[in-house]
Order: sequence, then C-alpha cells, then structure tokens
Amino acid sequence: MPDYTGRFAPSPTGPLHFGSLLTAVAGWCDARAAGGRWLVRIEDVDEVRTRPGASDDILRTLDAFGLTHDGEVRVQSRCKARYQAALEQLQRQGDVFWCRCTRSDLARFGQSVYPGLCRLHTSPLNNAAVRLRVPAPCPQHFPDRVLGEQREDVAAVTGDFVIRRRDGFFAYQLAVVVDDAEQGVTHIVRGADLLDNTCRQIYLQQRLGYSTPDYAHIPLIVNAKGEKLSKQTGALGLDAAHAGKLIWLALDLLGQSPDAALARETPTVILTEAVRRWQITRVPSGLQLPADKRVPVDDAYNH
Ligand SMILES: [Zn+2]
Repeated sequence: MPDYTGRFAPSPTGPLHFGSLLTAVAGWCDARAAGGRWLVRIEDVDEVRTRPGASDDILRTLDAFGLTHDGEVRVQSRCKARYQAALEQLQRQGDVFWCRCTRSDLARFGQSVYPGLCRLHTSPLNNAAVRLRVPAPCPQHFPDRVLGEQREDVAAVTGDFVIRRRDGFFAYQLAVVVDDAEQGVTHIVRGADLLDNTCRQIYLQQRLGYSTPDYAHIPLIVNAKGEKLSKQTGALGLDAAHAGKLIWLALDLLGQSPDAALARETPTVILTEAVRRWQITRVPSGLQLPADKRVPVDDAYNH
C-alpha cells in the first residue's frame, strides 16, 4: 500500500458544481503532491436521491478537468454485502440495537440526542432502523489539517446513531467508514459540511477495528445568504469549455496564489504547476468561504 491514498466521493444527485470542484481540486493536488493515489467513489448509498446519468456526468467532468483518478470507481450501491458484513460484526460485538422510534416519538424528548429507548432490542426486528450504541461519555478528537484540533463527545451531540435506516438502506456513516477502510484510504479531503459527521465515523472505525485516516475539511463556498452552493441555491454545472479558468479560480480560492498567466493554460498544465506548489496549510481555515463574482452561478443567484 502507498503512504497516501486519497479519494473523492461525490453523490450522484446532479452534475458537479463549483463547490464540489473546489474539494476535488484540493484532494487531487494534496494526493499528487504526496505522490499518492486518488480514488473516486460514487456515494449512491441513498438510492432514493440518486439521479439517473449523474454518475457518468460526474466522471466525464472530472476527466475534462484533468482530475485523473486511480483504480476502479467504487459504487456504493454495489457494496451492500460489505456493509451488511460490518453490521453483523457490530451485532456480534453487542454494539447495535433495533429501533422503531418515529421522528415524532423522538420529538417529544425535545433534544437531538437519541434517548436510548430501544437499547434492549438487541435482536433483529422488522421495519426498524439499526442504531449503534454509543457509551456516555464518548469523547473523540482529531487534528484537522485545515481547521486544527477538533473535539466532540458523540454521546452528548447525537448519542446512539442510525447505521441502517428503517427503509433498509445503509446509512451514510456506515457505508463511508467501510468504504474508506476497504479502499485503504489514508487521507480524507472533503467539504466542511461533513465536519460534524467525523467524530461519529471515528467511533465507528474504532468499533470495527479500522485505523483512522487523516482529515482535512475544505471550506464551503456560500452565497450572500450563507447558503452552500447547490442546485437549489443556483449553482451551475461546470462548463468544460472553461475548465482551465475554473481550476485556476479554485486554486486561487484555496489560497494557493496561482500565477495570473496560468489562467489561460490547459487544466493539465495548471494542475501540474499547482501540485508543485501545493500547501494545504494555505487553505483558508474556516467553514465557509463567500463566493466571489467569478464563481459560476446562475442569474437567479446574482440578483
Ligand atoms: Zn428507538
């Protein structure tokens, strides 16, 4: 195994937009600067949200932007047996229970922490979610390469969390942790919208006997209202005809100060130079980065 294996893990809910490009460029440069591998994984574990054709569209965009990946693309919807095996391991360890609480049942407790109501249901029940038992306290911490030291008591923030949903789909938390371990991922570079999942994922890694990767959370591009770029907030898909300019803009926002003259080059030339000069410590260390006028959004957003 190489010393560095990174990954980019988009959800196929629509085309890539500038916010996802920012994360992809950061992860790609970080992996290549370390001489490492960069994998791509399609996170379609939530099949309800998957849009037909979106995966192919994302892969074509990465290709057009020169963001080359290594190895086969892993697709979560084809890995359910792996998630099931992990769930069974947790069950053998006495780490899980089945829960039929509805949202309104839980709302009566008036807090976001699961109150442990179903902890005695340690044998499978139909039409029930599977939750991971979280002991109290459950202090976790990790050194984020962009944001610095992060701490959370998982018991105080979420408590016992869902690893397989009531509708039968595996939860994002379980799928990601199994995927990263099986793909040998050592370094995770992803958007800061996922920061508050990290301590739960670290606890899950510990229960499954996996090692914990290094994390770097990249600030989210937000509009004037502080909303993350998405189709809903008017982010356009990425036009391959402007690939070089958009990569240059991403590097500029990532604090890498690319030479102005590079903006007219091809993506490959720009990325090669970016890898040579890449320093993740120069990425702005905030959760949000206000979009500037150069970020591609549609008219509804600009007005
Ligand atoms: Zn319950």
